[in-house]
Amino acid sequence: MLIDVPELISLDEILPTEPLLMMGAGPVPIPEQVARANSIVINHLGDTMAKIIDQVKQMSRYVFQTQSKWIMGVAGPGSAAMEMAVTNLVWQDTRVLSICNGFFSSRLAEMASRVGAHVETLKVADASIPDLVEVKQVIERFRPQVITLVQGETSNTVCNKNLAEISQLAHQYGCYVIVDAVCTLSTMPLKMDEWQIDAVITGGQKGLSSIPGVSLIAFSERAYQRIHSRPTKSAQWCLDAQLAEQFWHRSSYHYTAPVSGILAIHEALALICKETLESRFARHLRCSLALQRGIEALGLSLYVPEEARLNSVIGISMPNGIAQKALCQHISNRYRVEIAGSFGLDIVRIGQMGEQSRAHHLFRTLHAFGCSIRDLGGKIDLPTGMAELERGLQANA
Ligand SMILES: *Cc1c(COP(=O)(O)O)cnc(C)c1O
Repeated sequence: MLIDVPELISLDEILPTEPLLMMGAGPVPIPEQVARANSIVINHLGDTMAKIIDQVKQMSRYVFQTQSKWIMGVAGPGSAAMEMAVTNLVWQDTRVLSICNGFFSSRLAEMASRVGAHVETLKVADASIPDLVEVKQVIERFRPQVITLVQGETSNTVCNKNLAEISQLAHQYGCYVIVDAVCTLSTMPLKMDEWQIDAVITGGQKGLSSIPGVSLIAFSERAYQRIHSRPTKSAQWCLDAQLAEQFWHRSSYHYTAPVSGILAIHEALALICKETLESRFARHLRCSLALQRGIEALGLSLYVPEEARLNSVIGISMPNGIAQKALCQHISNRYRVEIAGSFGLDIVRIGQMGEQSRAHHLFRTLHAFGCSIRDLGGKIDLPTGMAELERGLQANA
């Protein structure tokens, strides 16, 4: 006897008739060119793929701002790239200092402790950035070999604006620095070589505006020497950089590469190169600041003070009496705009990564956001908010 065929429900019945505008904390909308590339399957080995991989590495060097040849892709979420950075540079008894601002930076600490590292965490007070003097003291006391931190902590919308100083300081003490730039890469400056970072991680579905499931990592030359001289093999076979080297640097087989996703990321990187980093950073800054001014002009407040505020994802404190879940559901159902709640904090988050930072998306999102709060009984000044958004976009143009 066979198990019965299940009752079939078509995708059309499941998907919304009008696509949702994805303005949450990722995944973000993808350009048409990326979507097209993602529909193609080619041989994962051979000359065509070799040419594509070569270009992905060259364009990545520009986006990461590094001369290092050690760029690799990962079939997996941003977390797989985080795990690749950690498990290749950290092993049993490695001394790791994890600077923790929230959910994602703590994930790096968790990954390090799972491979048997001796992990010390430096917990940064909510809505603020690490104090350099304190970082220096911990380094001098604990003498870490590896330091992990995020550039932008998506969970509570904090940006470690002193990342360059922290990284350069850590370097003076001989530490290897791992930076999670999943939500920030290509949305704001990050200079891997100049800032002396040893591993930078990004996912596909945030700043790069590609699809989820294929991520990128860059190791410095120095980091790569550490990987080549490690005393034991990594327990993670798929994430082993020396095995990934087969595919990413020797045109041979490691595992079957996610070809469509790599083609998609190729197009996403090509769009960044065409736009140039300078214009792309300016676009993100202009859009994010205009949206922030618009939100404040509605009568709401932003969760993080300006000196620590992330622009790539905006955290908004909930108005009294409105539940974040109800707000996210309402704006999605009624206005077809998707925004994000948060892990544990009483905030909602609106993304400003890649294709999210477009004026027409901002007008629709702010309007839907304001209307939703009003629908749920909140008091806001919608015309002033919309006018401030417009003014912000003009002022910073
Ligand atoms: C989203 C995110 C991650 C995790 O990426 P996944 O693709 O969900 O695994 C890690 N770090 C930061 C800063 C992020 O924003």
